[in-house]
Amino acid sequence: MNFLDSELVLGELRRMGFVPSNDRDAADLVVFNTCSVREHAEQKVNSRLGELRAIKAGRPDLIIAVLGCQAEREGKSLLSRFPHVDILCGPGQLHRLGELVDSVVAGRRRQVALCGGLRGRRTVQADDPIESLDGSREYGPGQSPLQAYVRVQRGCDKFCTYCVVPSVRGRERSRPPANILAEVRKLADAGCREICLLGQTVSSYRYADSVGASVGLADLLEQVCRIDGLLRVRFVTSYPGGFDERILHVMAAEPKVCPYLHIPAQSGSDAMLRAMRRQYTADDYYRLIDRIRQIVPGVSLASDFIVGFPGETDADFAATAEMVRRVRFKNCFVFKYSPRPGTVAARRLADDVPESVKRQRNNELLAIQAAVSAGANAQLIGQSVNILVEGYSKLDQSRPDGQGARQLTGRSAADQIVVFDLPADVHEGSLVGRMADVRITASTPYTLMGELVEWPAESQSGERLALRYKSLTNRP
Ligand code: SAH
Ligand code: SF4
Repeated sequence: MNFLDSELVLGELRRMGFVPSNDRDAADLVVFNTCSVREHAEQKVNSRLGELRAIKAGRPDLIIAVLGCQAEREGKSLLSRFPHVDILCGPGQLHRLGELVDSVVAGRRRQVALCGGLRGRRTVQADDPIESLDGSREYGPGQSPLQAYVRVQRGCDKFCTYCVVPSVRGRERSRPPANILAEVRKLADAGCREICLLGQTVSSYRYADSVGASVGLADLLEQVCRIDGLLRVRFVTSYPGGFDERILHVMAAEPKVCPYLHIPAQSGSDAMLRAMRRQYTADDYYRLIDRIRQIVPGVSLASDFIVGFPGETDADFAATAEMVRRVRFKNCFVFKYSPRPGTVAARRLADDVPESVKRQRNNELLAIQAAVSAGANAQLIGQSVNILVEGYSKLDQSRPDGQGARQLTGRSAADQIVVFDLPADVHEGSLVGRMADVRITASTPYTLMGELVEWPAESQSGERLALRYKSLTNRP
């Protein structure tokens, strides 16, 4: 969600005439888009803001803006700690950033835009001011990214006891389908091939229009799939409670909907799930997973887990470890519990699991998952996997003079990363942004390596696509 917000804000600043710079200390405007989910993210921003103190003293015209959840959460107390900050802008006010920057430039007065209308349950109207931010993307032909995020929901209504999101991003509000579809169409027309629909609990997306018709995520997915040019649709993050099975039927029936679900369990222990107020039991979760696998055979599943939640015993953790072994996720994100000010857990529950135990449980869970992933990936050796080619891999060795092995990377519908060497007679431009089949020859827990076995006939000028790809990734 933050990645998308950053991209939208960057687009707005570009339209105002700003140009991105790699040299923070020489920039006219420094913008931090912040995350408050764990303390560590906030500490990083604090230390960067500290570093800018001296630079601002030497260059008073420098404008420093703090956006996002930390701005919203800390509000004016952040300004008293860092008086050199000029702009504070919460996640619900990002559409106003341009106006805030203009005001600072004009009058050098500090600008604060927090919370506006975020509190309380509201629906999103098609012409809400905040909608202008998401609708503001503009791409010429060939300028759009290959893959893009599109927000379908704002905020969250679940109020898990550890989580800061509902208080900083507000209550859950689904966006009007017409706005979402217009955005996807615009992206697809400009060349985007894969869309990822975003919501904190995207599976509970539901929009009721003024005549009372109601659109759920399953309906929205069907409509998005009809948009020409799109090859793939994903959606994150699903919530395990009250999961609408129609979503699974659409996933099974629509070739464009990737058979991939990120559906965080958070814990395998009922006592922990209750203390987290997750509204389901471990058994409910197992049953949902069985149902998902029944309706969408071969589906790829991912999860988040929190270790070291207050009161987590060895037995509670063992239940989580058991869940990771039993469900066989494609991948898991594991987080050490971090008490967040203002949340129910931080107020009522002592952070009583020592850091060393949190670290040990974190490592143990990751090791279990790595073993599961290694086994699953090794089974793919010898098989052919269909991927969307994304571009050069991190390990690409090719040089501007055309020498060196060219290694490309792509992703399967199940969200596996697949890298392959490009045969000497194939131009990367004819592949990037298109589907290809790769036969898997080797694997690690996180990556599949393979060789290209089938790719589309070159129907477009390779040169043009290659240039386009390079311009998107800043390759020389
Ligand atoms: N809405 C999504 C994700 C929200 S934040 C969901 O509910 O699944 C992403 C992840 O951060 C969560 O899934 C959770 O695992 C983790 N997280 C949130 N608050 C946390 C905290 N206080 N400490 C540690 N991890 C946390
Ligand atoms: Fe936070 Fe829970 Fe909402 Fe996810 S579902 S954003 S963890 S409150």
